[in-house]
Amino acid sequence: MNNLENLEKNIPDLTIWGGTILTLNRKNEIITNGQIDIRNGRIASIRSVDRPTELKAKKVIDASHCLVLPGLINGHTHTGMTLLRGYADDMPLYSWLHDKIFPVEKKWGSQDFVYLGTLLAILEMIRSGTTLFNDMYYFEEAAARAVHESGIRGICGQTLIEISGVEDTSKIFGQFDEYLSKTQNFPRVLPAIAPHSVYGVSDSVWEKIVVYAEKNNLRVHLHLQETTSEVEDCRKKRGLTPTAFFEKIGLWRNRCVAAHAVCLEPSDIEILSRHGVGVIHNPESNLKLGTGICPVVSLRKAGVKVSLGTDGAASNNNLDLLQEADFALKLQIFQNGVGKLTAEDIVKILTIEGAEAFKLDHEMGSLEVGKSADLIAVSLEGPHAVPVYNPFSHLAYSATGADVKHSVVGGSVLMENRKILTLDEEAILSEAREWGRRIAL
Ligand SMILES: [Zn+2]
Repeated sequence: MNNLENLEKNIPDLTIWGGTILTLNRKNEIITNGQIDIRNGRIASIRSVDRPTELKAKKVIDASHCLVLPGLINGHTHTGMTLLRGYADDMPLYSWLHDKIFPVEKKWGSQDFVYLGTLLAILEMIRSGTTLFNDMYYFEEAAARAVHESGIRGICGQTLIEISGVEDTSKIFGQFDEYLSKTQNFPRVLPAIAPHSVYGVSDSVWEKIVVYAEKNNLRVHLHLQETTSEVEDCRKKRGLTPTAFFEKIGLWRNRCVAAHAVCLEPSDIEILSRHGVGVIHNPESNLKLGTGICPVVSLRKAGVKVSLGTDGAASNNNLDLLQEADFALKLQIFQNGVGKLTAEDIVKILTIEGAEAFKLDHEMGSLEVGKSADLIAVSLEGPHAVPVYNPFSHLAYSATGADVKHSVVGGSVLMENRKILTLDEEAILSEAREWGRRIAL
């Protein structure tokens, strides 16, 4: 290789320059006047500079007056449900699900519904700083296709549920084989199996799920102990809490994440910690459906890795993780007192700790050389961002998703100066409005 070829090889594909970088690395280093060079989708260098030194980068993004940080991780959502935003509110969980959500899903659920709903969700998530989301829904192949087309990352969990009447579980494992082979062509999709909950799946099917997940080395995503009645019913039926039941049947031997975990006993927390189960806290959905508050402080104290999720847009009703973080912090203050969960903690939960909950921290969650270039730049230009004494406090308590200016995933720019580059935003919004009109009829 001659010198010219060598020089060409070292030219970054992308340079992001000018912001304050929150690395979220082990030392939690903050780099002012930062420059990040990206090659082949990965971070090639991070340093502080006076002005861009790699002027030959194929593309340069100006992040001055921004905080640059790892992309946010939405630990639990149902993106296909985004077309049901605001369809049913002000109801408790049981009647919300059985009287409104399951019937409307049965009527309208289809590949097209999920594809468009997921595209709509992805637009909102890119715009508010999410670069990876963990999904659970029907027709998940359509969600995986939307992930692939948009350039975001998704852990796409095909759901399995016997109570809604949408799925026929006798066919599900055959369909799962097909689903897994289709998602192999989507490099930014990680497939998962997403059995709904202890009450949504019969015990004999749970045992098959354990075997299937182990055989295919599949990630497992489920709802866990969202309400007291779920725990009481399980105790009556099996003499165990759902967490203890899943331990008994061997489910926790897999890479599992459990959403909600609102009604936990100390013994449940010990089991989750012992098996390295990631817990997803969904505070806005839990409060909206009146189910309670996840004991995040106790879980973290026991060594459980926690991620933050929005849940679906039908129970939140937006997918803005920075708003969720503000709400989560204030709830933990209410539950535990001031200072037990801090602004810095919640930003870690959104990034590196979230990545640890999914066992993906070797690839993402912090800005370090060699990791995937999944990052966002959050503008500090608005009046609500002046002054900034502590960037973590600003992100946790003041910023919202609307402040996210640029988004990069695996080195590809998904949004620059708030313009989405990978999807036709207008076309998606207009089609989604049309779906809304049809569903409302
Ligand atoms: Zn959920």
